[in-house]
Amino acid sequence: MSESKTYLGGCHCGSVRFEATLAPGKAMACNCSICSRVAALRAFTPATSFKLLSGEDALTDYQFGKKHLHHLFCKVCGIHSFAKGTGPDGVEMRSINIRCLDGVDPLSFEVTHLDGKSR
Ligand SMILES: [Zn+2]
Repeated sequence: MSESKTYLGGCHCGSVRFEATLAPGKAMACNCSICSRVAALRAFTPATSFKLLSGEDALTDYQFGKKHLHHLFCKVCGIHSFAKGTGPDGVEMRSINIRCLDGVDPLSFEVTHLDGKSR
């Protein structure tokens, strides 16, 4: 198993900044109605491995469907840099859009496909 890595990331305008510890090199492309529009590549991590550094007041919460997830986006630049939700085991999770991580080449990640559309 490869070691976890701590990344810095955020939205486009710089209002939203966060730190997230992720298993490196793995992301998921989800085909649900929002992920396909946003083109997010997601990496999931427990909320305890995520720290919002700035931008709490710039985040807008968007929910739809069963409202399991909070699709947060920056109200200034519109970028969805992460989402909040609860895993099947009740653990509070964060879904990081790896395209929003500093200095990360998303194409270097191994991408698996998640069939969020049928959930
Ligand atoms: Zn922004």
